[in-house]
Amino acid sequence: MTQAHNSMDHFQENRSCKECGVTYTIGQFYESCSSNFDPPDRYSDGCDDYCLACWLGVGPNDFPPMEDGDSGATEFVYPPYKG
Ligand SMILES: [Zn+2]
Repeated sequence: MTQAHNSMDHFQENRSCKECGVTYTIGQFYESCSSNFDPPDRYSDGCDDYCLACWLGVGPNDFPPMEDGDSGATEFVYPPYKG
């Protein structure tokens, strides 16, 4: 299989993060956080397998749930985890 890696289908395809299990599309992150696809974050290297938050080390699995309601920028809203 030789598919162009930058097609729109690729961006719109539903993916499941291998770390936190969230369903995402690359496109949803590219719209709001396109700068993270460039160095130094290089999310373009991980966007196939991980959501942006996990790639950046700020995913739900990186911070155990705590009772702090005020953690600054909450750009992403995660749906309930479905095992
Ligand atoms: Zn994730």
